[in-house]
Amino acid sequence: MAIKITRPQGTEDITPKQIYKWHTVEGIARETAENFGFHEIRIPTFESTDLFLRSVGETTDVVQKEMYTVKAKETEFTLRPEGTAGTIRSMIQNGMLNDALPQKVYYILSCFRHERPQAGRLREFHQFGVEMAGSQSPSSDAEIISLAKTILDRAGLQNIILHINSIGCPACRAKYHSALKAYFEPHKSELCDTCQTRLEKNPMRILDCKSPICAEIAKDAPIILDYLCDECKSHFEKLQEYLRALHITFSIDPKIVRGLDYYTKTVFEFVTTDIGAQGTVCGGGRYDGLIEQMGGKPTPALGFAMGLERLILTMENQKCNFKEPKNCDLYIAPMDESAVITAMQLGQKLRESGYQVEYDVMKRGLKAQMKYANKINASFVIVLGENELQSQKANLKNMQTGEQTEITLDETFEEKFDDIAVQYMFHDVMKDFEKECQ
Ligand code: ATP
Ligand code: MG
Repeated sequence: MAIKITRPQGTEDITPKQIYKWHTVEGIARETAENFGFHEIRIPTFESTDLFLRSVGETTDVVQKEMYTVKAKETEFTLRPEGTAGTIRSMIQNGMLNDALPQKVYYILSCFRHERPQAGRLREFHQFGVEMAGSQSPSSDAEIISLAKTILDRAGLQNIILHINSIGCPACRAKYHSALKAYFEPHKSELCDTCQTRLEKNPMRILDCKSPICAEIAKDAPIILDYLCDECKSHFEKLQEYLRALHITFSIDPKIVRGLDYYTKTVFEFVTTDIGAQGTVCGGGRYDGLIEQMGGKPTPALGFAMGLERLILTMENQKCNFKEPKNCDLYIAPMDESAVITAMQLGQKLRESGYQVEYDVMKRGLKAQMKYANKINASFVIVLGENELQSQKANLKNMQTGEQTEITLDETFEEKFDDIAVQYMFHDVMKDFEKECQ
């Protein structure tokens, strides 16, 4: 017997039974982004490895431990571990930053990170993200946070806490780095190997370490908010004022530094406690230096990324509503070869009018066909046998009520079906409405 091949660890199949959940969240995210004036961008799945070294940062976990780097012939590429670097590369390469600012884009894409797979942590996962380039104003920070919050609200999520922090600009961060170094130096030998090198190169990364020992040592470390320059401080205060005006509740968490190196000033996370340890559903912030660092003209920018697996997991746990997939409107059961042709022709017409129509392609008997029609939740069924073809009349059966209506199989078929189907849909809507009113 042939050996079954299974999917790689840390990847998931999204089958048709699950896909409607994805369509629901993707639909909400797209529509909300468009409401805010963001437009979709699509970028390659792989980029030159250098792009991520230079943007995400050499001392981050993502670059040091998690990248999928592939070699094809003599060239090396890396599967994107996140969407910002590629999006900014694309904005620069396509001259978008010379156009009217701000540039506002969103994306839905898969990301690849070689992590230890667990609930809410995969090796291939999906993000919905947005990036806005051109604005320094804290009103754009508020705009981005408000966009993320609107998506989470429209998805029906509850108990999501927004944590915000400012990690300052390079000027305030230099002072903060010295303070952190001085704090961690006496504990150097207790830190994990990665953090020992971080201590020299980028001590703030230690605050993001997942090792419990490093986290314990970091508990009393100095906090960045005490080191912010006047400009960064007032930016952060203004943002809080805007959030309050928008009635977006937040808590300030000076421990958030984010896992990627490019952030400046505002950083934020939306966190839930409903899906276990991997509770960060959305993370983002400002990255004013990144575009220049990547060879573009100096342009402030910011964005966020939402983990779609975590978002869906939270929605499932909180019993949020997903938009149900559309079922079959009409199932046609042909009983012989000439009926197959009539079924095809009727189906062709109704599909043109937007109906979901199926007919038997398995050459099954009536009983098996009815079983199938039930399984696909068909709203109506017609059986086409010798009698029906001869008389050009058939019974259209409403599968929910059992009601049968005679219908002619001529050019009036489509119109008649339309009448009955609309009545039926209206009946259904009214029933839902009555239920809601009770
Ligand atoms: P974490 O601290 O959970 O590792 P991160 O800081 O590495 O997250 P980001 O790089 O900011 O995450 O990515 C944005 C979002 O993408 C996260 O908030 C999360 O929802 C999602 N995400 C990140 N890594 C994974 C993963 N391996 N599997 C599933 N979702 C992920
Ligand atoms: Mg991570």
